[in-house]
Amino acid sequence: MPMTRRGRHALLLLALLGLPALSCAGAPSQDQALFASRRLELVRGIRLGGVRDSATLEALAAVPRHEFVPPAEQALAYVDEALPIECGQTISQPSLVASMTELIQPRRGLKVLEVGTGSGYQAAILARIGCRVYTIEIIAALATSARERLRRLGFGAVAVRQGDGYLGWPEEAPFDAILVTAGAEHVPPPLVAQLARPGRMVIPVGASEGIQSLLLVEKDARGRVRTQDLFPVRFVPLVRGRR
Ligand code: SAH
Repeated sequence: MPMTRRGRHALLLLALLGLPALSCAGAPSQDQALFASRRLELVRGIRLGGVRDSATLEALAAVPRHEFVPPAEQALAYVDEALPIECGQTISQPSLVASMTELIQPRRGLKVLEVGTGSGYQAAILARIGCRVYTIEIIAALATSARERLRRLGFGAVAVRQGDGYLGWPEEAPFDAILVTAGAEHVPPPLVAQLARPGRMVIPVGASEGIQSLLLVEKDARGRVRTQDLFPVRFVPLVRGRR
């Protein structure tokens, strides 16, 4: 049946109305595209800020940080800031995650211990690079949610354990690298002992609630340990004992 002019107009109108409706239905993918472009912008800034390791930059460009923050913080996921996560803890500033990752000279197959799983974001960055990642979180609820999140996002190979990271993970030692993402009052001797020869550890050390110094602790092939003080940082404290 031939369509009247009014009918055609109605169809056109429907189509026009339908377009935004359809794109609303597609909102999640629009969000994904927006998140992805903001993420690339963030990584560009981090590169301009001096991080040069291409594996680190590629991982930051690939891992969806917005999936690691609470829904209320998602809009800020690609601003270069630390953000609150559950249990009064924080996800570190992306540029600091990048610098600390670069400092351990990450590469495929490197066996890495992370102390302070938090959201699981740092662990995901290391896993994306191809490191074999072991991560310890003292708060049981965070360990559980990070484990689930990592699995859901395809990082199920990351081993997550609840416990006191001051003591390291002796059954899996030695580690080629150790990354501590909570502020310690001193360098924990068990972690130095669990570093491979050679091995590198990056750890914030200082007064528990204040500013810490980011230290690079290097163990050479003969087991000699050298420590360098890099720059000031602020992390939540490394607490002791089981919760
Ligand atoms: N790396 C995290 C951020 C770490 S926030 C991320 O990418 O999101 C620091 C975390 O260290 C907190 O979750 C805190 O609960 C945890 N933590 C504090 N003391 C700890 C300890 N002794 N052992 C293991 N985890 C600890």
